[in-house]
Amino acid sequence: MKTQADLYRELPSVDELLRDQEIVALVVQDGQAIVADACRAVLGSLRDEISAGHLDGSKLAFALSGIPSAVEGELRRALGYSLRPVINATGVILHTNLGRAPLAESALEHIRETAGAYSNLEFDLESGERGKRDVHVDRLFRRLLLGDDAEPGSAGRTRASVPTRALISTIVVNNNAAAVLLALNTLAEGGEVVVSRGELVEIGGSFRIPDVMAKSGAVLREVGTTNRTRIADYERAIGERTKLKVPLMEDLGSGALFDLRAVGINDEPGVLDSLRAGVHVVTYSGDKLLGGPQAGLISGREDLVKKMRGNSLFRALRVDKLTYAALEATLLAYVKRDDEAVPVLRMMSLPKAEVARRAQALVSKLPTGKLSVEVIDGESLVGGGSAPSAVLPTTLIALTCSDLGAKDFASRLRAANPPVIARVEEGRVLLDLRTVLPQQDETLARTLGQIAT
Ligand SMILES: *Cc1c(COP(=O)(O)O)cnc(C)c1O
Repeated sequence: MKTQADLYRELPSVDELLRDQEIVALVVQDGQAIVADACRAVLGSLRDEISAGHLDGSKLAFALSGIPSAVEGELRRALGYSLRPVINATGVILHTNLGRAPLAESALEHIRETAGAYSNLEFDLESGERGKRDVHVDRLFRRLLLGDDAEPGSAGRTRASVPTRALISTIVVNNNAAAVLLALNTLAEGGEVVVSRGELVEIGGSFRIPDVMAKSGAVLREVGTTNRTRIADYERAIGERTKLKVPLMEDLGSGALFDLRAVGINDEPGVLDSLRAGVHVVTYSGDKLLGGPQAGLISGREDLVKKMRGNSLFRALRVDKLTYAALEATLLAYVKRDDEAVPVLRMMSLPKAEVARRAQALVSKLPTGKLSVEVIDGESLVGGGSAPSAVLPTTLIALTCSDLGAKDFASRLRAANPPVIARVEEGRVLLDLRTVLPQQDETLARTLGQIAT
């Protein structure tokens, strides 16, 4: 019987490993330093196994023969990307933990084209002088936020509550939290901002209005109750110290640029609805219902937005060329009314029957035996801080596997390449193809097949 000390002595040194033929091949490919690190990591875990008493003489001999492949595995992990694509089968369209909105093809192309070379990001090609980065998207926001008034035949029609195109301006910052911070700091620093208690909620990713308000230098003046706030509550709270009375600001969050009523969601106001209702400044995210890159957008009265552009905080919160490229391409899809081009819009308008058709097609490819499969009715979630009631009827694939519990089944799905993220409910794994890109159906079927055979 070998002692632990004997077993330790049988471990090779890093130098010995680096002379092993299979390891030499790895060094040629990836360089000595990183391969040596991988050897150290593998030897370290063998030492841990010995000290834990998990390895006797014969098990160690087996483990020693597996060192080269363990080193290679360690190396692949070290050199692989940490940020990876996953298949979102949760049915939550704007899933903050899964990167929210997937970008449109045109957005990816525009990033590729403009970021792999120099661009006119802040250069006016006409005058040859320094330009502003906002111009690339402000023109498109102006067009989109004018709404129906931009339609041919409606010229001259005026709606008292709609600011004219010339008076609406938009700036872009890092995310909506930054947009709220910049707007509050610019418009209300040192003063009071009156907010209904019903609005003081936390949004996923720990965004809380009172915290952002404190950082902006404005003072929160709460009015009303969590379930009801009356006009009189606001009237009583407004006084000399009030800064955000007029102007009126709304942190919209989701920021739809299209009419959600078209997909049956009636209680989520769009950017246009808010501006029409008389809100002077709205803040919203670029990667929620807009379906673009992470960004915070501030749209509103030109004089107020101009003040924000002049705030030195804006310089710290501004975004890079990748964001402008993705945003410009996404907005152009709206201008061209090409809803199919924006993945989030495509997913939202996918009819339940189409999700069902894809679910049936996928199910027909699964191996029988261990899997028990049912296609059932369910709901997809819009997510991303939109109204909790923003759900869409969908079709789900409900699965159980005879030799795996639902939680283990879900964890095997996450360990696949690419990882598949599913819902687990009542002892079953649920897959919603609404949020799976159609070209991923095939891969998803294959992954399920591998787990269940
Ligand atoms: C999502 C959301 C935020 C935070 O937006 P980020 O883009 O994640 O910074 C703030 N307010 C509301 C109402 C939201 O829905």
